[in-house]
Amino acid sequence: MTPAVLRTVEEVKTWAAGLRREGRRLALVPTMGYLHEGHLSLIREGRRRADVVAVSLFVNPTQFGPREDLSRYPRDFEGDLAKCGAAGADVVFAPGPEAMYPPGYQTYVEVTDVSQGLCGARRPGHFRGVATIVTQLLALFRPEVALFGEKDYQQLQVIRALNRDLHLGADIVGMPTIREPDGLAMSSRNAYLSPEERQRALSLSRGLRAALTLLQGETRDAAALTGAVRHELAAAGLREDYVELVDAERLTPLDSVAPGQTARLLVAAFSGTTRLIDNMALGG
Ligand code: AMP
Repeated sequence: MTPAVLRTVEEVKTWAAGLRREGRRLALVPTMGYLHEGHLSLIREGRRRADVVAVSLFVNPTQFGPREDLSRYPRDFEGDLAKCGAAGADVVFAPGPEAMYPPGYQTYVEVTDVSQGLCGARRPGHFRGVATIVTQLLALFRPEVALFGEKDYQQLQVIRALNRDLHLGADIVGMPTIREPDGLAMSSRNAYLSPEERQRALSLSRGLRAALTLLQGETRDAAALTGAVRHELAAAGLREDYVELVDAERLTPLDSVAPGQTARLLVAAFSGTTRLIDNMALGG
């Protein structure tokens, strides 16, 4: 079924209040649209965990830097609507920027510790924009469950922190990264890649898998594990943005993976001009 489309904050308030009166559980899936199987896996899991599923489609201007791809970010509203319906979404919220940031808007949310390294260090203001829009969406919909992908692992930790610290009360569910058959993590930004750039982009996931294999062979040292990823990036001619081994929750740098420790290896790199990210759990 084609989902109902809501465009304004007032429409959401009225709709969500109706759900609460009926005692129905809501799952929210925030996205920037141009949906792929990764997004759809979140919608399907939302269906399993709640009575009603809402998907937001909003290319959030405050999370893009001045030299980033806001104006050319891919969009396909009609296609997204059909995919949302097929995956079981009941409602799509597709506001314009003026609905979320009307004249006089002046409130921004800053999550400190987990926003600082990794993408936070390379994209100043990015997580402030993410935290602001996700806080708005959680406050507006007040969902029982909100689903996010581990593909954006640091973002997931930022959202867990703001949901906890601001008492927003959602159950934040992190879902595994959905990949193409050849290992490439699905991303709306993969649409920017030429066939050759796409081929070379496989080095991110290949590097992460090589690191996992090293860890399984008891190589625990951060330099060796990050080195395996760097080796693959260099062989494919990709420019590294970062490769880091961190504690899986606090995202603080690790020198090595202790036995039983849950670590995360994260990579960001440019294939051509397209910045791609990927990550994997190591240990635990
Ligand atoms: P985006 O539209 O890129 O902002 O992503 C919306 C949500 O989908 C975020 O929670 C992402 O982490 C999640 N997501 C994006 N790509 C994937 C993927 N390949 N697998 C699982 N979740 C994903």
